[in-house]
Amino acid sequence: MFFIKGARKRGFKLSSALLPFTIGTYSGNLNDNGLSFINAAKEFEQLKMISQDIVSNAYTTYIFSLIDAAFKDNEPIPVWYQKVATAIRLIDEEFDAEIITNIIEIQLLSVFGVQPQLQGCAVGGETQGEFDYSEAYGGLLCSKHWYLDNNRLHATQKAIFYLRQFSVVNLDKLNSIKVAERTKKELRQIIDVIYDNSVGLNLKSKKFIDGMSSWPVSLKKKTEI
Ligand SMILES: [Zn+2]
Repeated sequence: MFFIKGARKRGFKLSSALLPFTIGTYSGNLNDNGLSFINAAKEFEQLKMISQDIVSNAYTTYIFSLIDAAFKDNEPIPVWYQKVATAIRLIDEEFDAEIITNIIEIQLLSVFGVQPQLQGCAVGGETQGEFDYSEAYGGLLCSKHWYLDNNRLHATQKAIFYLRQFSVVNLDKLNSIKVAERTKKELRQIIDVIYDNSVGLNLKSKKFIDGMSSWPVSLKKKTEI
């Protein structure tokens, strides 16, 4: 956490660099004891679409609260910094915010100490064929082993396909992504099951997103806030 001197003054030189959803290079004093201060910023850009669109805004806020929950303060996270910067730039470029969020959620699981087996069957290691997700086995089960868990999620093959893709996709190489609404709903449910039962966060930003699904479409489209 950083403090900023004089931020409330009119004409403050850093005001535009400190707007929400701004990416930039900030410099200041990092003190071991007492307060740390930011005193300069360069190469900053505000992500305009995210700032103006309530849906993108909600997903981006949720991604930040996940990162906040996953990592300790004062710990440099260069790999994840790049990943999140890419994710929110993609959302700002109108890539599907729900999907970008799903990718971050799946890839963050290992940081939360949950490592679902998504590369192959958790029992026999099979990598080909039909799969389902089993909480009891902590990952995929191939159809040969479905009999082992009646409480497996009974997910569609499409949802399983994306789940596996999301665990390995490199956001920097994402060109486009289009997932059917029905599959997106299913992915949301599967990831919620994994998070609720294995991670156990209770984030306000996620509750906001859950509530958003009951909003009329007209309200969700490009709402200015
Ligand atoms: Zn198997």
